[in-house]
Amino acid sequence: MDLPRIFTVRESSHRIHNPFTPGKLAALGQALHLVPGSRVLDLASGAGEMLCTWARDHGVVGTGVDISTVFTEQARARAAELGVTDQVTFVHGDASGYVADEPVDLAACVGATWIGNGVAGTTELLSRSLRPGGLMLIGEPYWRRTPPDEETAKACHATGIADFLLLPDQLTQFQDLGYDVVEMVLADQDSWDRYAAAQWLNMRRWLDRNMDDELAAQVRVELTTEPARYARSTREYLGWGVFALMKR
Ligand code: SAH
Repeated sequence: MDLPRIFTVRESSHRIHNPFTPGKLAALGQALHLVPGSRVLDLASGAGEMLCTWARDHGVVGTGVDISTVFTEQARARAAELGVTDQVTFVHGDASGYVADEPVDLAACVGATWIGNGVAGTTELLSRSLRPGGLMLIGEPYWRRTPPDEETAKACHATGIADFLLLPDQLTQFQDLGYDVVEMVLADQDSWDRYAAAQWLNMRRWLDRNMDDELAAQVRVELTTEPARYARSTREYLGWGVFALMKR
């Protein structure tokens, strides 16, 4: 049970495995007015940057669960680096179906709503760990503009246009699920570049060191095709945001 290795090749230098910059992640933490001691559950916590920096900056405590052994090890190392190992724990495992032993103040799934088979299922999953009145965070793509055709949607690594909504419709979906949208921080094209373009240098450096690796041919193709694909499709059409929700 692990994340396919190609992800750790592409995102080897990333601490944040989504289109947020450190500044946007910090802005979100500030926007939520977290109080010290707040208990957090982060499903698909990746390399743990959200939990570790918010533990340092806001005194939160909590647990991250992720299926990647590499990212989970990086998260533990980051906690040690930031001096927050007594506040945060990182569990390697499948987060789909994961429910906290004790209700938390903030339950998050940032960039992995497939663990609940989509936004609706993920809000339901997170709600099972959340205390009444707690905050939920969902990180999710949306269409900046509706792609002109299914081919363009697929070029954004979606299975089709129906995968995502326009931003107003995404916000309405949260409302329809019974939640108030109480905050949001959105990626922009520059922060998307930090996520996407940073992968190109990672792939090139990895290729230079791993010419004989079984993934080398795939990485070579991606490095050649990704920049134009990204500029043509994802950068133009795909937005991304983290939405803070409270049950009505
Ligand atoms: N929330 C993190 C990581 C987002 S990337 C961040 O924003 O930086 C998506 C993450 O989902 C990856 O770390 C991947 O390992 C994890 N993941 C994918 N499927 C999972 C599953 N079933 N259970 C737990 N984690 C999963």
